[in-house]
Amino acid sequence: MKQVIVREPAWRMMAAYFGINQAEDKLKKNEQLCALGGVITRHIIDIKLALPMLSPNSGAAHILVPGENWFYAICVFEQCNLSLVGSCHTHPGNLEVFMSGEDKNTHMVMFPGGISIVCNPQRREFAAYSANGRRAELLMP
Ligand SMILES: [Zn+2]
Repeated sequence: MKQVIVREPAWRMMAAYFGINQAEDKLKKNEQLCALGGVITRHIIDIKLALPMLSPNSGAAHILVPGENWFYAICVFEQCNLSLVGSCHTHPGNLEVFMSGEDKNTHMVMFPGGISIVCNPQRREFAAYSANGRRAELLMP
């Protein structure tokens, strides 16, 4: 099982975009997603960048990221000598932190060897999951 490390720049972007550590009235009610750029080695998934994926189709319990947005993220990461290694998306409000069927499908299609981080910004809960649905050790700044 790989260890997942979130570096400071990636963490700052996620925290700002998801509204973590912000006043209650500024917390986001719809799901949000960041593509994660980094490097995968034998024992570590090293996450260096988080890129907000704006979605025209999201709600309290779903988000649909168009294919061209994933393509855009892959292009940006490549120019930083990074790869798309996963995503971090929110389950806001009263949603639990878990991998839904749709989350697992996206994971298998987009980054089968990577990581999915699910976050509830209101409760400040985070969990990382690999393709088999098992939780991975997650180190945040
Ligand atoms: Zn989800």
